[in-house]
Amino acid sequence: MQLGNVESRLAKNSYEVDEGNTHIEVNQEIARATGTGRMLTKICPAHVYREEADGTISVEFAACLECGLCFQMAAPGSLIWHYPEGAMGVRFREG
Ligand code: SF4
Repeated sequence: MQLGNVESRLAKNSYEVDEGNTHIEVNQEIARATGTGRMLTKICPAHVYREEADGTISVEFAACLECGLCFQMAAPGSLIWHYPEGAMGVRFREG
């Protein structure tokens, strides 16, 4: 059985997006001061975080896989993270 690459496997997931109700917020000041912001852009498997030209970290929360890695790795106070409300968020189709 061929598993395919990570991107093709992730593409099989579906998402119930809670528009306008993010479950992830970055404290830009603390994230910048601690290096957490740049670190987040490198560790997230779903590429939820992106560093903008002005150094702020943008969040594409709809793509979150709810693995919790960012929450575990972020400096204290730099990130607010919780699971999406109710039945919202990712639905895994494989793996
Ligand atoms: S929980 Fe996982 S997938 Fe979601 S933003 Fe954090 S590192 Fe990325």
